[in-house]
Amino acid sequence: MENLWAPWRMEYIKKVDKEGCIFCTKPVEDKDTENYILHREKYNFVILNCYPYNPGHLMVVPFKHLSTPEDLTSEELLEHYELVRKCITALKKVSNPDGFNVGMNLGRVAGAGIDKHIHTHIVPRWNGDNNFMPVLADVRVVNESLPATYQKLAQCF
Ligand SMILES: [Zn+2]
Repeated sequence: MENLWAPWRMEYIKKVDKEGCIFCTKPVEDKDTENYILHREKYNFVILNCYPYNPGHLMVVPFKHLSTPEDLTSEELLEHYELVRKCITALKKVSNPDGFNVGMNLGRVAGAGIDKHIHTHIVPRWNGDNNFMPVLADVRVVNESLPATYQKLAQCF
């Protein structure tokens, strides 16, 4: 097995990785409506998941490209969870769910679709929507259109 020690390459890999990361590229495009970015704070933003488990599936994402929440400062983490709380409030107002799945998948093995940039999922649940949802690990097709969901939720932030 080849095993080359080239520390400068890590920087290159990180850079390329970051350039291809939707959580890094979307916020700088300045097209929040098209990108379904609902809200921005200082360290984090809220975005609608385009491949939702349920209508209104939201994600809170730090602007920093980090693969573990251990690298967030306390201030960034506090804001992150304040936004999670705002998402729950907004979803309750707009779609009256019976419950929520809230959480992070860290690493591919845990079901993270994008494992290099952490994000917290907020998935509204309704009684009978799916008894055994493959929790945050698979993609389901939902009927409500994203632009309509976006418009409803945008008014809550
Ligand atoms: Zn990123």
